[in-house]
Amino acid sequence: MRILIAGGGPAGLTLAACLKKQGIDCIIVEKAEKGRTGGYSIGLHINGWNVAERLGLIDEFKAKAMPLGPALHRDRRGRKLFSYDYRTLAEASGGRMLAIMRDRFQDVVTRHVEADVDIRYETTVSGIHDDGAGVDVTFSDGGIDRFDLVVGADGYRSALRAEVFGPHEDFLRPLGYRASAWRMPIEYPLGASFVGMMDVDHQGGLYDIGDGHAATLFCWRDGRTERLDADARRRVLVDEFGKWPEPVRSALEAPIDWENAFFDTVSQIEVPQWSKGRVVLLGDSAWCLTFLAGQGTSTAMAGAYILAQELAQKPHAEAFGAYEARLRPLVTKMQAVSRKIGGHYIPQSRLGMRLQAWILPIMLSRPFARLSSRLFSAPPLDLG
Ligand SMILES: Cc1cc2nc3c(=O)[nH]c(=O)nc-3n(C[C@H](O)[C@H](O)[C@H](O)COP(=O)(O)OP(=O)(O)OC[C@H]3O[C@@H](n4cnc5c(N)ncnc54)[C@H](O)[C@@H]3O)c2cc1C
Repeated sequence: MRILIAGGGPAGLTLAACLKKQGIDCIIVEKAEKGRTGGYSIGLHINGWNVAERLGLIDEFKAKAMPLGPALHRDRRGRKLFSYDYRTLAEASGGRMLAIMRDRFQDVVTRHVEADVDIRYETTVSGIHDDGAGVDVTFSDGGIDRFDLVVGADGYRSALRAEVFGPHEDFLRPLGYRASAWRMPIEYPLGASFVGMMDVDHQGGLYDIGDGHAATLFCWRDGRTERLDADARRRVLVDEFGKWPEPVRSALEAPIDWENAFFDTVSQIEVPQWSKGRVVLLGDSAWCLTFLAGQGTSTAMAGAYILAQELAQKPHAEAFGAYEARLRPLVTKMQAVSRKIGGHYIPQSRLGMRLQAWILPIMLSRPFARLSSRLFSAPPLDLG
């Protein structure tokens, strides 16, 4: 069996590693150039952790993980609202949680697979035809090839999904926010794992990623879902946050490399069935949870593991069905959790801000962190 994976992000790379473990041949086409840097911190939780252990990658992830510490949240005038500590959350998950920058995560998995898997960078799928017995694919570099199966792991705005399943808008469930994340140089350490600032309908923050750099995460209530060019993105950010004090001011004045930064609507993807013929979707292209759940990477990794396992045991149609049956309940639950968090993530009034500043530190304190973790985290999946 020979499989094409479109997209070399967390889902596509983990699938390549899992297929390699099962002795199944695959190639990856990835739109970005090799060694792309940038990106944001991703939290690896129980399901990602369990897959990483099975692939023998957990020690490398741990070695490249970021130190966990306190998070401080202030209001727009710099007055303290609340704080909590990521180490308490890690304890509540039995120590099976870590935070790692996305490019370091990808570097670990890429090095694990690249001797066995052909990864074609700066390449996309430009044409696809499933004739029932196989899939003919044309690539953006003009190449043509035939595969037994094709996996769309090309993210939230999946081009493969649009080609085979229907237009992007048909699968979109907007949660009413936009978000942006980029990297910037800093002169002084931030002194906390996360330094956030909040106002009605707005939140912005920075975290230290070492080497004299910080990463940002900005989020604000905004129901629009269209894609913006670099100039329009900056204009929106300045409109929303332009009058905020440090550290937000420096973040907005920093040069932003939009090739590697993130700016998009916060929307879920809901696809009624993740496979069609010989094509199957995986990760954000199938079920984007949004960053609000903090479980997108771990769920993509679990999906990759289960898909590879089923393909090693069953004909593709049965394997696709079993993959969806095993994963769909978790995805449905985590999408509901993400929507629930989304409802309260950024308060819509001063009273809401005061309530959040009172409730959140209690929920994330040692006596309650385990209960909160049970309510909002993904339960461990049976990986067989
Ligand atoms: C700001 C932010 C913070 C987040 N924080 C967390 C967190 O703490 N924990 C967590 O678990 N998750 C987090 N997430 C979510 C997580 O990043 C995603 O769920 C996860 O990356 C999904 O992986 P994926 O491979 O399915 O998609 P993606 O990460 O989107 O990767 C898709 C890949 O496909 C490539 N691609 C795109 N189009 C094409 C094409 N046409 N052809 C070929 N390749 C293509 C892209 O370049 C990319 O490499 C966060 C997301 C954001 C935006």
